[in-house]
Amino acid sequence: MQITRLRLTGFKSFVDPADLRIEPGLTGVVGPNGCGKSNLLEALRWAMGESSARSLRGAGMEDVIFAGTATRPQRDFAEVAIYAVAGDDEEVEVVRRIERGAGSAYRLNGRDVRARDVALLFADAATGAHSPALVSQNRISAVISAKPVERRAMLEEAAGIAGLHVRRKEAETRLRATETNLQRLGELIADQD
Ligand code: ATP
Repeated sequence: MQITRLRLTGFKSFVDPADLRIEPGLTGVVGPNGCGKSNLLEALRWAMGESSARSLRGAGMEDVIFAGTATRPQRDFAEVAIYAVAGDDEEVEVVRRIERGAGSAYRLNGRDVRARDVALLFADAATGAHSPALVSQNRISAVISAKPVERRAMLEEAAGIAGLHVRRKEAETRLRATETNLQRLGELIADQD
């Protein structure tokens, strides 16, 4: 999957709409301290379904919404859109929006979807919110000092199989629920005999 464009509105310091084209190859973000370089990477991860506010340097998810400055009032929502070309040349538009007091909503090519659908879409394409394709500050030292289990998770993310683990976990949960139902059914039948 090739991410081609990133559009932000009201996300952290990006109060005004910003539209960035991402060209093929390695992309670096440069600029003075505090200009919003990390915020850009966080916008990508957030739209990919990041569910941990702490990993976005906030206490709660609403902290990603522009909080206001001395000269500008705070915003009521933040929206980030990712445009990408999937393996089969299909164009994909993923939008995540959060409104104060209303939580997050996702759209995939204009259709309402769940956070899980978006996370799996990117995990299957090996570009998820925790993908090693996104190299944020401290990431390199984190890779070097990672425990073997953590390193394996990075490799699995890079190989695009992280989504399979999610599906396996869900299937196991459903299996356990079905086993409980079957057991209960068996007990009811035995009671009637
Ligand atoms: P450095 O080079 O120092 O790491 P950076 O370019 O990565 O900096 P960021 O950390 O992305 O910069 O951006 C920090 C700026 O974003 C700060 O000025 C901070 O006040 C602003 N910021 C973060 N969250 C919000 C928010 N919710 N509303 C408004 N501004 C915010």
